[in-house]
Amino acid sequence: MDCVVCMSFVENDIYSTFCGHLFCKQCVDKMILNSTKCWTCQTALNKAQVHKVFLPSSGTLSRHAELSLINARMNKLLKNDEEILKRVKALEEAKKPEKGNVILILDD
Ligand SMILES: [Zn+2]
Ligand SMILES: [Zn+2]
Repeated sequence: MDCVVCMSFVENDIYSTFCGHLFCKQCVDKMILNSTKCWTCQTALNKAQVHKVFLPSSGTLSRHAELSLINARMNKLLKNDEEILKRVKALEEAKKPEKGNVILILDD
């Protein structure tokens, strides 16, 4: 959205007033510091009547980003597990000839 005060595009940190007007964080901070009225409609405001807005679309996006991050971490962990399993198998393989010899002796 575009902040009506500074006219800049705001993607995150959108704040809504009690009267339903949206501002960027910088402007809402200035507004609360300098006046007790909404800069758009002049409705009386106090600090408790300004709250952050979480847009569903951006929330979904960040959740997707979070999920892909978790997936990446999981894959990394799984790869680490595979590496460990490979090493364990290699160690077991290294031990096998000994066991094999024992079995061979028993077979004889
Ligand atoms: Zn602004
Ligand atoms: Zn207003």
